[in-house]
Amino acid sequence: MKEVWVYAESEGGRLHPVVSELLGEGRRLAERIGGSLGAVLASSHASLAEELALWADRVYVIQDQSPYTDEWQGQALARLIEAYQPGIVLFGGTRRGKSLAPRVAARLRTGLIADCTSLRLDDGGLLLAELPTFGGRLLTTIACPGHRPQMATLAPGAFAPGPKGSGGEIINCPWAAPEVRAVEVVAQEPLPEEDRPLMGAEIVIAGGRGIGSRANFALLEEVASLLGAAVGASRAAVDAGWVEPEGLIGQTGVIVRPRLYIACGISGATQHVVGMQRSEVIVAVNKDPKAPIFDLATYGVVGDCRQFLLELKRHLAPSRPVDEENEGEND
Ligand SMILES: Cc1cc2nc3c(=O)[nH]c(=O)nc-3n(C[C@H](O)[C@H](O)[C@H](O)COP(=O)(O)OP(=O)(O)OC[C@H]3O[C@@H](n4cnc5c(N)ncnc54)[C@H](O)[C@@H]3O)c2cc1C
Repeated sequence: MKEVWVYAESEGGRLHPVVSELLGEGRRLAERIGGSLGAVLASSHASLAEELALWADRVYVIQDQSPYTDEWQGQALARLIEAYQPGIVLFGGTRRGKSLAPRVAARLRTGLIADCTSLRLDDGGLLLAELPTFGGRLLTTIACPGHRPQMATLAPGAFAPGPKGSGGEIINCPWAAPEVRAVEVVAQEPLPEEDRPLMGAEIVIAGGRGIGSRANFALLEEVASLLGAAVGASRAAVDAGWVEPEGLIGQTGVIVRPRLYIACGISGATQHVVGMQRSEVIVAVNKDPKAPIFDLATYGVVGDCRQFLLELKRHLAPSRPVDEENEGEND
């Protein structure tokens, strides 16, 4: 069937933010193959199905009130896919998606391409998924030519949300849960929020090794709050202990796509770049004019990032005196 499906992850009556990205990419692929877009939901909240119907052509609602487990949702999804035969099925590369998608793929005896950062289709409709591999040294293209459906998990933040559709159909899919369950839910406790403020930020200011010290990083944080920006970091800054790991941007961190990304003292290693290259405007500050970050920067500032931050602070808060001697410091 020429339908692209997305798994609409939800919890507590809310759709996961990655779902809008899946719907955007799903719509793009569906248009490319001349097909339609379907969303699969397993939730008793009727408003979620209605919300999804604004974007998808069909919303398949699995009728089961049981608490989430990989086990039953994996079985239910596999059954539904066997019944409707979508050509492509996309999941978010979230905690749940990474656990659920492989189970579904194994049941269907098909492949699964994990953590994709870009997708395209060849002329025959074969899904070509790009992802960084070997520690980011290689950008690999992976396809699943021999089995169907073609399945992938998409790195959160790597894909743009899409436009609304024209109002889709909601299809209720009865599902008889198996009598014997290997997993019994005894209690449910919400995990800490997986979504980080960095992911939806319009402005991100990030620091790297070139920031030089924790005190200078505090100056960056001060400038960020004046700008209304989220604070990000490279691996070197996280490893130095200047910032919490939640701030890491890149292959092993968060993927961001803000309107403005300011990189201070960051060289532009591939593993960092995969996390910020989709930013609309990139400003790079680096004392080395040959730093690779300048290859993708919209504007480049060759110079000392502490001086840059002090200058920016002076412009943003002219009433606050800037003590150049003592503000921030170099270790
Ligand atoms: C498997 C794997 C996964 C990884 N995942 C990630 C990831 O998710 N995110 C990530 O960021 N990295 C990741 N890395 C690490 C990555 O390869 C780089 O080592 C890291 O991004 C470098 O951080 P940096 O640019 O801050 O430091 P450096 O590469 O050391 O660059 C520091 C820069 O600061 C400049 N500089 C120095 N002093 C000043 C100054 N006073 N003013 C202005 N500029 C100055 C220098 O010219 C230099 O360009 C990963 C590596 C591996 C192997």
